[in-house]
Amino acid sequence: MTQAPNQGTSPKEKKSLNWAELGFSYHATDYRFRAVHRNGQWSEGELITENTIVAHEGAPALHYAQQCFEGLKAQTAPDGRVLLFRPELNAERMRQAAGRLLMPEVPESLFIRGVEEAVRANYAWIPPHGSGAALYIRPMLIGLGENLGLKTANEFEFRVFVSPVGPYYKSAGLAVISLAVSELDRAAPSGTGNYKIGANYAGGLLATRMAQQLGANEALYLDARERKYIDEAGSANIVVSMKNGSFVTPGSNAVLPSVTRRSIMTLAEQELDLSIEQRAINLREELPDFEEVAACGTAAVISPVGKIWVDDQWHRFYGNGEEAGPVMKRLYELLVGIQRGETDDKFGWTHEVNCSV
Ligand SMILES: *Cc1c(COP(=O)(O)O)cnc(C)c1O
Repeated sequence: MTQAPNQGTSPKEKKSLNWAELGFSYHATDYRFRAVHRNGQWSEGELITENTIVAHEGAPALHYAQQCFEGLKAQTAPDGRVLLFRPELNAERMRQAAGRLLMPEVPESLFIRGVEEAVRANYAWIPPHGSGAALYIRPMLIGLGENLGLKTANEFEFRVFVSPVGPYYKSAGLAVISLAVSELDRAAPSGTGNYKIGANYAGGLLATRMAQQLGANEALYLDARERKYIDEAGSANIVVSMKNGSFVTPGSNAVLPSVTRRSIMTLAEQELDLSIEQRAINLREELPDFEEVAACGTAAVISPVGKIWVDDQWHRFYGNGEEAGPVMKRLYELLVGIQRGETDDKFGWTHEVNCSV
């Protein structure tokens, strides 16, 4: 990293970025948080400016994917407060992943402190309210240190870096996307699909490319055992608003437990009075009953799915697959309103990062 932090600008002065034009890509910021685990304990942790990691050539993260990560956003409220959305759920999910991969858990206090420090130190990069952009936060836990054989690392790094981002799918706001059922499987029934670990994603790059060659934005994975039931998309969970008025999400244990999806289910039940269900969704049999479909996640927010490619043809949903339907629109507004501090946070989901210290 070449630029000196905050050179010539006050840390409280926003960078002059064209916030509205940002895509979902890496934009270097000034600081990142790092803590290391050696000899059974975590270091205190510190802010650094170096945006590379020097790893031993045998590091288990590089060979055996002994690593996990998280993704969340910080957004600016109308009154200037900086808000995280349910970060304790990300901390919990990272603890689960660490346990599954024999890595030391990052205590919730260290996780939240690392996220808060990285956000606060990069205050100038947090997109202002109303810009449509957000500060994406990427915590990661990786297995480092000298190694050759297949065993757990002897050293770990917990790092948190941030990047201002725009919408994940090209157009701003509620972009209608399309999915193509993948011939490739994402996760085995008792595998690691429910953890946010690097090992689940390299295999999906080809599936995404194949879906894009069919003209879709993303792959849609079915369950690996029977290839009948919806699992999820490459980086987003699926929710379906049925013609009978129920609001459904797959009950599969091979999907990532999305914080966004869990929040949407609560909003659908409590704010829209829909009857919610978490159960197996047989894609081919139930397609005709789908009224609106959406993909959801921190990056995708709620992206209405207009059409799905199944068995060599497109199946279209609300508005002939061209527009967002009323249920997903309403849920998007409710969710984003809370995340951006525009509406009453009646569920206590937002977490303010004090940026005045
Ligand atoms: C990160 C991710 C999601 C979304 O989870 P959120 O907690 O809502 O961001 C969904 N599916 C996969 C495979 C993911 O990696």
